[in-house]
Amino acid sequence: MKLIFCPKCYDVLRLIPRMRFCDCKQSSGIVEKDGLNSKMFGEAVPLWFSNESFIEALYSRPTIGMGNRFDAFIIAYSCPTINSGNVDNYKISNDENP
Ligand SMILES: [Zn+2]
Repeated sequence: MKLIFCPKCYDVLRLIPRMRFCDCKQSSGIVEKDGLNSKMFGEAVPLWFSNESFIEALYSRPTIGMGNRFDAFIIAYSCPTINSGNVDNYKISNDENP
């Protein structure tokens, strides 16, 4: 699953098929209609969680002590499935072409 991190307010948000904004509104992102590509705006830093290892860690949550680690990483500056842009232009474009 793709997420964004805002370096200004430290929010972490999962990207979904509707625009989401961090608490300070300086980072935002959306999953495109194809379900594969995403757009992010502002200060957003893209993150990736391995669904498989996250679910495995979630369901093996211990009663006490440290939980299990799961795979996650910061996505590179250049990624073929993530585009950056101006959020105002994106809203205008989507309003004109629903
Ligand atoms: Zn923020």
